[in-house]
Amino acid sequence: MMEQKRVTIVVPVYNEGDNIPHFTRAVMEAMTGLPYRYELLFVDDGSRAESCRVLRETERREPHVRAIFLSRNYGHQAALTCGLDHAEGDAVITMDGDMQHPPALLPRLLALWAQGYEVVQTIRETTQGVSAFKRLTSKYYYKFLNLISAVPIQPGGSDFRLMDREVVLAFRRYREHDRFIRGLVGAMGFRQVQVRFVAPERYAGQSKFSLKKMAKFALDGILGNSIVPLRISFYIGVLSLFVSLALLAHVFYEELLGTTVAGWSTLMVCLSFFGGTQLMVLGVLGEYVGRIFREVKGRPLYLIEPEHADEMPDEQGDA
Ligand code: UDP
Ligand code: MG
Repeated sequence: MMEQKRVTIVVPVYNEGDNIPHFTRAVMEAMTGLPYRYELLFVDDGSRAESCRVLRETERREPHVRAIFLSRNYGHQAALTCGLDHAEGDAVITMDGDMQHPPALLPRLLALWAQGYEVVQTIRETTQGVSAFKRLTSKYYYKFLNLISAVPIQPGGSDFRLMDREVVLAFRRYREHDRFIRGLVGAMGFRQVQVRFVAPERYAGQSKFSLKKMAKFALDGILGNSIVPLRISFYIGVLSLFVSLALLAHVFYEELLGTTVAGWSTLMVCLSFFGGTQLMVLGVLGEYVGRIFREVKGRPLYLIEPEHADEMPDEQGDA
């Protein structure tokens, strides 16, 4: 008989203690009966002690479950990267641990892989219980992103996807910081296929994406995939040059008429206009320079806690 293929399911979790047992059960239910050996690989992204305890217990109880603990909270994309770096399966599936990526979909993703697709990308159709704000910003964000980025990035694309081992090995060669994985995978090519799904509400707890984390992620998507913002700043510079030339002509005209004293408002408008555009252009430049700075330092993308750190004595001198 042929050796069964292995599937690794990578799940980054940040304070998901209330979700982990339920999620684990749901995944095991979805995977039983399928002709694969599988491993559920949790990457704990610096959760609080209570959540880590739940994960360690689950790992101890379930032979299918393995857990890696990061040394602090590095963010969803870094935790995902860590999981992809350590996944040993012939296929690797990444998904959220809060039931918003339905485990019931796993057989469908695996069936498409069996048909020969190397990337099975899921697309969120609608998300139940998501605020109008998040829905709208997401919609227009993807529109804008597609406008400026060279490779198309699907609106509603999520980090719920299956990747063949070949794709995972290729992915590991991308070591950039501030990553936007759905853009990266989209740009990698291979035989890709899409599956649409309706994301249900979270099983327990609240979204771990603060507005700040979301803004950072959105910026990573734009600045990591395109240098169009730099070009736009150049155009803004050109535009303000023309405006200032027009104003200069106006000033000369007033000079000829001898009414120059009235120039105070023109001066203020000019000052604030050019001050503003300069700061904005500098800000865009600064964002890219900051990214170059982070790349040049070449720091690791994440650090992992040594295994069984929890079994060490808490205080020094403990026997
Ligand atoms: N997550 C993480 N690190 C973070 C934030 C989130 O590992 O800093 C995990 C989280 O536990 C969940 C997944 O990433 O499994 C998606 O996060 P969440 O459900 O909060 O995002 P949303 O669905 O609201 O976009
Ligand atoms: Mg979620």
